[in-house]
Amino acid sequence: MPTLETATHPQNAERPAVVGEPCVLLKLGEIVLKGKNRELFERRLQNNIRAAVKGLGIKINIWQREGVIVVRTESGELADVDAVARRLTDVMGIVWVHRAWRVAKDVDATVQAALDLVAQHPALARKGAFAIRARRRDKRFPITSSDLNALVGAKVKERYDLPVNLKHPDLAVFIEVDQREVFVFTDGMPGAGGLPVGMSGRALVLMSGGIDSPVAAYRMMRRGLRVDFLHFSGMPFTGPESIYKAYALVRELDKFQGGSRLFVSAFGKAQQQIKSSGADRLQIIAQRRLMLKTAEVVAHDLGGAALITGDSLGQVSSQTMQNITALDDAVDLPILRPLIGMDKTEIMAEARKIHTLSISELPDEDCCTVLTPRRAETRAKIDDLRQIEKRLDAGELAEQLAAGLQEHRPSYGDPTT
Ligand code: ATP
Ligand code: MG
Repeated sequence: MPTLETATHPQNAERPAVVGEPCVLLKLGEIVLKGKNRELFERRLQNNIRAAVKGLGIKINIWQREGVIVVRTESGELADVDAVARRLTDVMGIVWVHRAWRVAKDVDATVQAALDLVAQHPALARKGAFAIRARRRDKRFPITSSDLNALVGAKVKERYDLPVNLKHPDLAVFIEVDQREVFVFTDGMPGAGGLPVGMSGRALVLMSGGIDSPVAAYRMMRRGLRVDFLHFSGMPFTGPESIYKAYALVRELDKFQGGSRLFVSAFGKAQQQIKSSGADRLQIIAQRRLMLKTAEVVAHDLGGAALITGDSLGQVSSQTMQNITALDDAVDLPILRPLIGMDKTEIMAEARKIHTLSISELPDEDCCTVLTPRRAETRAKIDDLRQIEKRLDAGELAEQLAAGLQEHRPSYGDPTT
């Protein structure tokens, strides 16, 4: 059993020392509910935590406790613990990230830590109201939660003369009595939520340089899918700008899963061929079908069980109900469209939150706009599309495109250039 370090940590001007060891306490969401699969999920999450922290160069230990995960740094330095806590707000499957103090399992140590945390809280100067929120995960602990609330609350009141407000405190001190120690902490940071990446399997994102597809990727990673990315550029008839954007977007999204792969297809010549085969008003939808067919070949090679797109119903002419039906017809794999019912403003707000919006808004020459017909078809007929694809030999073309991809590894840790 690890012994608790009770030495006082180095004094910090803004943060007076607390007796105990600083650590990160993670509250898990749905993972708690998963019954017998829970252990597998927890192991997956622990691996993801380790992978996320690796880039920081900080050595950590992870302890799984009932419903919570404790992450300790080997150094025990506050700065390291803070950096780890911030990094873990991007790891899917975690609902709250708390910077907590582990203290010995006795009342005096708990009271002392609570007093220290109040002392360093900004609400103290304002004489804000406080609340103590104690709970026991170890019911054998001799003092009940309500007694602990009363006892610690009285000490805080006596020392700092703050008013109590149990409903809407300016400052809440949480005390959690665990099997081996007590955790004491104040505010936390909201975690990414969702399920650990990888838990739901693997899928392939069709990644344009636009606003929607990165948000779609984020949403599906958040539901536990590990994703690879496939981008179609208009090269050789466009410049490489859209590829730079896709690269930058994947690098940003990589912070949620690590190890991301971006595959790039030079799609310009295939677009020309579609045009030559007389697609006319069906040009865009025929292109999208060929993208999906190519993606299906790629997904098959990578072990992906679904395709993901940023389609949102009615947003553009290729996203009418008829056209979406015509797209689904192009492939056997399920196409996941997490943004289907979202408004553009909602999608943009989410893109801003995950820091992809500013990249998506950079100018580029989207491959789809190069050969856009003057009037795009909003009610594509599947038979017409199949006719075009027959003339093209679309199946063979998709195989060729899939065989000619460039692979990149945009990594969140890499410097932005
Ligand atoms: P986005 O903002 O994601 O580009 P959009 O509103 O521009 O979407 P479309 O251009 O019709 O809509 O594309 C719909 C979806 O098709 C995209 O979200 C993406 O998944 C896929 N897609 C479109 N263009 C490309 C491309 N060049 N490479 C890869 N996928 C693409
Ligand atoms: Mg687009």
